[in-house]
Amino acid sequence: AEEQLRQSQKMEAVGQLTGGLAHDFNNLLAGISGSLELMGTRIVQGRFSDVDRYMVTAQGATRRAAALTHRLLAFSRRQTLAPKGTDVNALVDGMLDMVRRTVGPAVHVETVGLPDLWPALVDPSQLENALLNLCINARDAMPDGGRIVIETANRRIDHQAARRQDMPAGEYLSLSVSDTGTGMPPEVVAKVFEPFFTTKPLGQGTGLGLSMIYGFAKQSGGQVRIHSEEGRGTTVSIYLPRHRGQAERDEAPPQVGLLSVA
Ligand code: ADP
Repeated sequence: AEEQLRQSQKMEAVGQLTGGLAHDFNNLLAGISGSLELMGTRIVQGRFSDVDRYMVTAQGATRRAAALTHRLLAFSRRQTLAPKGTDVNALVDGMLDMVRRTVGPAVHVETVGLPDLWPALVDPSQLENALLNLCINARDAMPDGGRIVIETANRRIDHQAARRQDMPAGEYLSLSVSDTGTGMPPEVVAKVFEPFFTTKPLGQGTGLGLSMIYGFAKQSGGQVRIHSEEGRGTTVSIYLPRHRGQAERDEAPPQVGLLSVA
């Protein structure tokens, strides 16, 4: 029931924010239609002096409106997940070049992969997206450069911890991205999973990164934990359920034997 309440509160927040976007969109439409009207009047009067200016205004507003709907669509689109047994250490290694290129030379990136890491049950391409997003957030928190550590670990969550962390008890592995950046005050940490919450300047942040990562992790049967200290840095950890498929298949009796009995 508590989870349901939380969910409905989240939906309400989405509704409010969607309403906000619709309002912005309407303002842009008003701007476009006003510019077109002025252009029309000038053309009828044969006075073309300001027509190009109105056109540029209308074009700019159109572009911004398109960007707005694009963002909204990207957010509302139901993510269909294709989970499978995934070696997260290998996934991280495969992303390292791309991550380094994305964060730039001022940010040092290192990995600490647990050697006996359990396989995860997760959609690998969604996890790649999430990892890149976390590294971009980390870079944005370190305008003067710094250090990113990408770390994997096996985690047993007992019933007590499970209640505390709002996830089922069981075996998980975690993928953590730590930075040496600005960190966040508790009131920001409390809001980072809300869609469209951002502290970044207009045009730089969508406020969708962490809310999408949260949705993806919950949908995968996992969780996202954040530890942040102002002035010291932030660690964001994605918990994913341990994949059991491989082990079950190994322990199953050989299929050939069963068939020959039948
Ligand atoms: P966006 O990055 O577009 O703002 P996110 O949902 O990814 O959207 O992040 C929301 C906010 O959370 C950011 O604007 C920032 O204030 C804060 N944040 C996220 N990651 C970090 C981090 N590693 N260090 C400091 N602040 C962060």
